[in-house]
Amino acid sequence: MRELHHVGVAVPSIEEALPFYVGTLGLAAGPVRDLPDQAVRVVFVGEGAARTELLEPIDDASGVARFLAQRGRPTLHHVCFAVNDLAGVLDDLAAKGVELIDRVPRRGAEGMVAFLHPRSGDGVLIELIDRASLSGR
Ligand code: ZN
Repeated sequence: MRELHHVGVAVPSIEEALPFYVGTLGLAAGPVRDLPDQAVRVVFVGEGAARTELLEPIDDASGVARFLAQRGRPTLHHVCFAVNDLAGVLDDLAAKGVELIDRVPRRGAEGMVAFLHPRSGDGVLIELIDRASLSGR
């Protein structure tokens, strides 16, 4: 785990958030994608170490919707580290007693991902993405 892949920011509306990231900060936006199984729409802005994922809840019951309701404003949602052999890393973390939201990798917007529970992340939601599954962006 040596590389930050992106940070995730929860926003009520991607459409309302994009002018700041694109117009003000000057980051390039990728396509907006729906992730129905996570009840979010996402868009990646920026590249390399500036890569940022904006997450907008699709329905009120989603985890991101509850997160936004609790915080009351857009804010940092998770950090994502790129790893080699994600399935092996999850096995290793499980053996160390880390609480995993995803025990096996699942398909995310940019590749195979898994989330660690914030209870095991010192209060921070941590996502891992398998380097070998990255789409090349
Ligand atoms: Zn993410």
